[in-house]
Order: sequence, then structure tokens, then C-alpha cells
Amino acid sequence: MPTYTYEAADPSKACKLCREQFAVTQKMSDAPLEGCPECGGPVRRVITAVGVNTRYAKMNKAPSDSELKRAGFHKLVNEGDGKFRKTV
Ligand SMILES: [Zn+2]
Repeated sequence: MPTYTYEAADPSKACKLCREQFAVTQKMSDAPLEGCPECGGPVRRVITAVGVNTRYAKMNKAPSDSELKRAGFHKLVNEGDGKFRKTV
């Protein structure tokens, strides 16, 4: 599944998670997140974040958790029913 990067649309309402960018693994068919899974504040998808997505897209592999961590990302795994588990 592809990993998408999000950031707070309104940093003044952001929590610790979404004030920094965070990555979410989603199915292509899933709708983009509209709210932060932690605080529900508005978030937007980052298209050209730090080159993580494009770099790994070229390699046709998702970044590992340790690589995400090194790049300063949190990672959330979509467990369904709108629930997310933070893995990094
Ligand atoms: Zn938040």
C-alpha cells in the first residue's frame, strides 16, 4: 500500500503529531484524510514532501519504519473503521 504524507492545514490548531508531518499507509482507493487521527484538526496531503515518496516510488518500495523515523516522520497504519495505529 502506498504511504502518503500529511501535515496540519492550520498549524495553530495542530497537535504534536500533525504539527510535524506524518505518514499514513492507505489504499489507493481510500479517500485522503481530512482530519488528524489524533486531534481531528484539518490536515492536507503533502505531495512533494522531502522527496521521500518520489524517491521510494522510483525504487518501487515503501520506506521502512526506520527510514521514515530518520527522515523525521511519524507513520500511522490504517486499521480500518477510521482507526489508526502509530507505528513510528
Ligand atoms: Zn493533530
